[in-house]
Amino acid sequence: MLTITWEPMTLQLKTIFRIAHGASAQRRNVIVRVEEGLGEAAGVAYHGETPERIIDYLQTVQIAGDPLHLVDLLAQLPQTGSRAGRAAVDMALHDLWGKRLGQPLYRLLGLNPAQAPPTSFTIAMDDPQAMARRAAAAGMPIIKIKVGGENDEAMVRAIREATDARLQVDANGGWTREQAAAIIPRLTEYDLQMVEQPLPAGDIEGLRWLRAQNLGAPIFADEAIKTPADILAHAGAVDGVVIKLAKSGGIRPALTMIALARTLDMQVMIGCMVETAVAVTAAAHLAPLCDYADLDGPMLIANDPFSGLRYDGARLLLPDRPGLGVELNN
Ligand code: MG
Repeated sequence: MLTITWEPMTLQLKTIFRIAHGASAQRRNVIVRVEEGLGEAAGVAYHGETPERIIDYLQTVQIAGDPLHLVDLLAQLPQTGSRAGRAAVDMALHDLWGKRLGQPLYRLLGLNPAQAPPTSFTIAMDDPQAMARRAAAAGMPIIKIKVGGENDEAMVRAIREATDARLQVDANGGWTREQAAAIIPRLTEYDLQMVEQPLPAGDIEGLRWLRAQNLGAPIFADEAIKTPADILAHAGAVDGVVIKLAKSGGIRPALTMIALARTLDMQVMIGCMVETAVAVTAAAHLAPLCDYADLDGPMLIANDPFSGLRYDGARLLLPDRPGLGVELNN
C-alpha cells in the first residue's frame, strides 16, 4: 500500500479577493503526499469543497502497486466525493511517477515548455480606481477583470485607461441573460479578448442564445465545466472552456477534456484556483496544450511555502526538476 498523508494549510491572500461569488482574505487548502509525490486540493466553497470534505475523501483512498504503473494506480481512486481531493491524489501520483523516472512531467507528456501561453493576471473586484492602479502596477500584458457586480463598465473603463494590456472579463456566473446581453456589447468597446462564464453554471441554452447574438467577444465556460460530459453539453454554446485540475479531478481527466474540447473545435484555457505552487505548477505542465493560461495563483498568495513554476513577466517558466518539480522552501 502506498503511504498517503495530508496537511491542511491556510493561504493568506495579498489583497481581499472579491468576485461575483463573494469575498475572501484567506483560503483553506489541503496538501497531500503519496510517498514522495506532492499534490494539493483547493478548498473552494462555491464548488462545495471544504477541507473537511476533502479529508473525508482522502480517508477513503487506498492505492497499491508500482508507482510506474500510473494508469493502474489512478484507476484505484474513488470516483465519488471531493473532486479537489481526487485531483490532489492524481497530482501526487503524477509527481511520484516523474520523480521515480527522473523526468519532469511535461517531458513525460512529450510537451515543449516553450509552447506554454503567457498567463493572465487577475484583478478582483474593488473600487474602479483601485483596480486600475493594481492593473497598472502589475505591468502584465493580459489582465483578467472580475466582473458581475454593480460597477462593471466603470471597472473595465478605468483599467482600459490605465493599461494597454489585453483584457478579459470573468463574470463568475454573476449576470442574468438580459444583463449579459446588455453589458457585453458595452464592455467590448474597451477591446475584450474574451468573456468568461457570463451566466450561472448550467444555463447552457442561455449561453447558446448569447453566443448566437455575436456580441463581439468569444464566450468561455468555466464553473460549468467539470467533466468531459459538460464539454459535450456545451458544444456550440461557447467558444471555449476553462479547465482546472481542482474541477476535473486531476491531470489525467484534464488531458481527456483538453483532447475532447479540441475535437469539438473549442478553445482551451488552463486555469487554477487560489492555490500554491504545487497545484499551479501541476496545471502549468499542461499549458503547452492550451490556448490561454490563467495560472497566477501563487502571485496572489502571501505565504506560499512551495516553489516550482516561475514567471518572467507573464511567461511561464516550468521547472525542469523531476515530476512536478515543486520544492518546499527552506
Ligand atoms: Mg473563471
